[in-house]
Order: sequence, then structure tokens, then C-alpha cells
Amino acid sequence: MGTSDGTVIGTTKIAGSGPAAARWNLVLLSDGYRASEMAQYATDADNFVAHLFTTPPFSDNAFFGARYSDAINVWRVDVSSTDSGADDPVTCGGTGASPATYFDASFCNRGIKRLLLVNNTTATNVANAQVPQWHMIMAMVNTPIYGGGGGAVATFSMAPGANEIGVHEMGHTAFGLADEYEYWAGCGVDTNRNNHPAVEPVEPNVTIDSNRATIKWGSLIDAATPMPTTSNPNCANCDSQPSPVPAATVGAFEGAHYYHCDAFRPEYDCKMRALNHDFCAVCRGVIRSTLWPFVPKRRIPEWDEGIWDRIFEFDWVSDPVPWDVFRLLEVLRRSRGRSQPALRDELSELLTRIDQMDVGQLRTTLLRVKASMARLDAASKMIEAKIAEGLSAGPGA
Ligand SMILES: [Zn+2]
Repeated sequence: MGTSDGTVIGTTKIAGSGPAAARWNLVLLSDGYRASEMAQYATDADNFVAHLFTTPPFSDNAFFGARYSDAINVWRVDVSSTDSGADDPVTCGGTGASPATYFDASFCNRGIKRLLLVNNTTATNVANAQVPQWHMIMAMVNTPIYGGGGGAVATFSMAPGANEIGVHEMGHTAFGLADEYEYWAGCGVDTNRNNHPAVEPVEPNVTIDSNRATIKWGSLIDAATPMPTTSNPNCANCDSQPSPVPAATVGAFEGAHYYHCDAFRPEYDCKMRALNHDFCAVCRGVIRSTLWPFVPKRRIPEWDEGIWDRIFEFDWVSDPVPWDVFRLLEVLRRSRGRSQPALRDELSELLTRIDQMDVGQLRTTLLRVKASMARLDAASKMIEAKIAEGLSAGPGA
């Protein structure tokens, strides 16, 4: 079972505007598709990408008309298998089917029927050979049985609603997000999921800390929101209470990270908790920050041809992120030996926060940016003077 059970046919870029070196590269692999089913795989891949790109925050405007989805190249790697489907072990109540497939996809990992995994080494080898600049590998498995996995290589099946599984698994594999649901095998089934261990999870979207002053997403919590926002009245089972606050309220909702109590999630609903809900604000923020460096940036003219006139044409209140200024900042910092990644992080942080700022915070930020501009203006005049000196000294100086 493995690479003798199929063929790597080739790679097609199905979405994305930039070279692999400049974008965030998602590599799709087919498993359990026979050579005669490659057209179906192409359709399935197109459908998945269309769904992904209409899901917030991928569909959000990132910058002057560029969306976060514009940061992503999608590469469809066509790999045929001898047989259709995936292994379906009887130990999880499956049929015992064991088709011969290239990446050897199987359900019933760690005793969980829905946990669908492939041979990660084979998947990584194929991605390395086809798209060495990959950021994430996702195997699409040709079976109608519900399942997926979000490990080093993500997977999802072609069950109804499969595209939603795929986007959820991307949350794990590409963006380091935790599951926000509060069960392992199922509500009413688990007997060892009452209280979360007293260890803070590393993921950004779950926590054991419901203290307003110290919770890791505290900056997103309104002062009027109760903390914790919900408490599970019976730690022996999942909490079925409706949300006491309006949808999209950020707080601390008990029941998360596979435990009924002592673990909290940021919103009542999130795609990391249940499919067919939006990602919560915390998860959206993580996705945007990850993709931001790969969002195509508008090309600007040479920075010495009247750029300041153009900068001041912007409406600073409605459009407080003049990209030209930051581009100039980047040029100046590079010229002073400061690293580009450090600047990118600062910018990324500022830009992802703007959506959450009230008018007061926007005004403060605006003043800071304008103060930076004044200093930059002075710096640019010094640089121009130096260049002029060099030019007047003659060619080659
Ligand atoms: Zn979330």
C-alpha cells in the first residue's frame, strides 16, 4: 500500500496571482482517485477553493482592494490511485475496506472514526518535489464517509459538507488553531472529559484563564461583557445553554479544547467549534496576521517623484493606512540596516488591529503615524541631500 499504488501525474496552479516565492502556497494532493476520476478531483478542488475564498477572513479586504485570499496560491497536484476510497477499519464500525491508494488514507485513527490521516512522509515528499515553497499540504480523499484531520498534513473527505471540514482542518494545520468544541468521542459518550488539566494550551483560541485582566484575547473583550461569559452548570457533560449575549460577542465561554469545564473559547460559536459558523474574531485575527505578509502590495511609482503630495491626498480618517508611507518606511529601514521582517510584524499588528479600533484609538494611531511621517520627511530630505552630493561629485562616486 503506497507509492506503488498510483502515479504522480503533474501539478497545476488553480488559484493565485504571484510566483511561489511571493505568496502563501497551499498544495492539494488527491488520494483514492483513480486515473479515470482525475476530472472529478479537479472539480472537487475548484469547489473547495471557491468555498475557501468566500469564507471570512479569506474574503476580507486586506489592502486597497486586495483580499486575504489574494495572498494564496493554490497548486493542485494530480496523483492517481489504483483504487477509489480510503481504509475503513471494522474496529470503528467500518466496512473493513482497504483500497490500494497512493497516500494510504485511513479513517479510525486513535480510535476515532472521523479522524482521517494519510502517510505524511509520502505526502511531504510529493509536495517537496512538486512545489518546494509549500506552506501547507492538504490531501483530498475520495470517499463519501465523513472525516478529516489537521495534523502536519491536513485531510478532508468528500462527504457532504466536506469543504467546511477542509477549511476547519486548515485552521489547525496552517494557522495553529485549537478545536473549540468540548468533547472527544462525543457529548454523552465521554467519561473523562469533565475538567481541563490546569495547563494553559499553546493555541491562541483556547485558554484556562477567564480573568478579564490576563486572558490572552483580552483586548477584544468589551468592558460590559460578563466574565466568564458562560459557565457550564454540569461538568459531567457538554453545556447546552443558549448564548446569553448577542452573536459575535467576544468573552470567555466555558467548554472548549475537548473538555466540558475549566477551558474557555472566545465566542459562543466558531468554525473551530462547529462547521457552518464563521471563524471567531480571535481565529480571524490569527489567519489575517499569517497571510498579511503575502498579500500583494500595490506597486508605487519611484518614491522621489512628488510622493508626499500624493500621500497627503489621502483621506486620513476613512483610510488611515497609507500604504505609500509604509513602503517608504520599509525602504528607509532597509537602508539603515534594520530587518524587513521586524517591520512587517509591526505593520501586520497595526493593520490587523484597525478593524477593532474605536474612533478615539484611530485618532491616536493617526497622530502616531503622522508624527512618524514628519520624522521620515526629515530623513528623506537628508537622504536626498546625500544623493545630490554624490551626484555632484560625478559618475562613479
Ligand atoms: Zn475560534
